[in-house]
Amino acid sequence: MEFEFSKRLQSLPPYLFLEIDKAKRKARSEGRDIIDFGIGDPDQPTPKYIIDSLNKAANDPANHRYALDQGMPVLRQSIAKWYKNRFNVVLDTETEILPLIGSKEGIAHFPLAFLNPGDYSLVPDPCYPPYKGGTIFAGGNVHIMPLLEQNDFLPDLKMIPADVLKKAKVIYINYPNNPTGAVADKAFYERVVAFAKKHNLIVLSDLAYSEMSYDGYKPMSLLEVEGARDVGIEFHSHSKTFNMTGWRVGWACGNKKLVAGLAKVKSNIDSGIFSAIQVCAVTALDADPKFVQQMRGLYQERRDVLVDGLNNLGWDAHKPKATFYVWVKVQSKQSSIEFAAMLLEKANLVVTPGVGFGASGEGYVRFALTVPKERITEALERLRKVL
Ligand SMILES: *Cc1c(COP(=O)(O)O)cnc(C)c1O
Repeated sequence: MEFEFSKRLQSLPPYLFLEIDKAKRKARSEGRDIIDFGIGDPDQPTPKYIIDSLNKAANDPANHRYALDQGMPVLRQSIAKWYKNRFNVVLDTETEILPLIGSKEGIAHFPLAFLNPGDYSLVPDPCYPPYKGGTIFAGGNVHIMPLLEQNDFLPDLKMIPADVLKKAKVIYINYPNNPTGAVADKAFYERVVAFAKKHNLIVLSDLAYSEMSYDGYKPMSLLEVEGARDVGIEFHSHSKTFNMTGWRVGWACGNKKLVAGLAKVKSNIDSGIFSAIQVCAVTALDADPKFVQQMRGLYQERRDVLVDGLNNLGWDAHKPKATFYVWVKVQSKQSSIEFAAMLLEKANLVVTPGVGFGASGEGYVRFALTVPKERITEALERLRKVL
């Protein structure tokens, strides 16, 4: 029997990390002491009060059955309360909030609800891969909006051709940004909302890093902008904020019709989130924000050690105001893949080549601050010897 992958699967962007993954596995199998800045996953454990909450909830038979597609009312209420406290935005718990099995799931499924074959998505580049993948799975076309350093890694909306705009349905925005660490101000969100209204676009805002910010900076929500609710849906995640990446829980909120469309797709695909996990999601949102503050302090300290250290080596590195990523220019004439391969070979360091996030990421590598301070210092020492 000969099976062929579907055209959709075949048209996904190529996976560019194969070589690096192979080299990393080889290095590990040889027992080399690898310092891995490649992982966008908190290294610290989920806080104990959340684990205790799971133990309790898992023992309750009421949580053993199919969950409601629209999520538990108590979780939607907790999300609404958190949103009001954090952004001063009031959400309707019945129609404007949808819990998700992690925000990636919702982001990837969303285009199925609103894109027809041939429609366009406007996607930043470099970017989190599901923006492109979700569009392609829905039969849509990806139009790339390059994020350039000279524009502070914000998309230049004027550069989008009129014929693409006519067929465009969705614009993706992600600030604080993975992988560049860039942030956006209110004026940017206002521009995007006005642009979306003018061109009849849905604004999909990915706010996975809303709580991971430094030096007192506080990221804002798209929904704080007047009129955003007419065009926007925002995706949030427990993953990074509460060290819960493996738990798979997050939510979407915003425009009723957009929330309803995603809910309808999901009700045909999954059957809700394990209720015990939803209980934990409430525990996390309702808890004292002290834990999140501690995490911010931890990442900020690591950021300072890494960026100051790189600059002492003569690199031109910048301190991100948010996210746990440091996005730096390749320090040679090599491509980002060659540079990353060289760092692995010569210094046993793993960094992510920028081109893996899209063509506009070429010329950069991403360091994730998911490595303890002492190991960052050790990595800087190795870089000093190599470069
Ligand atoms: C980590 C991350 C997410 C979160 O994904 P989950 O599925 O909620 O774990 C979403 N968007 C971006 C840009 C991310 O980096």
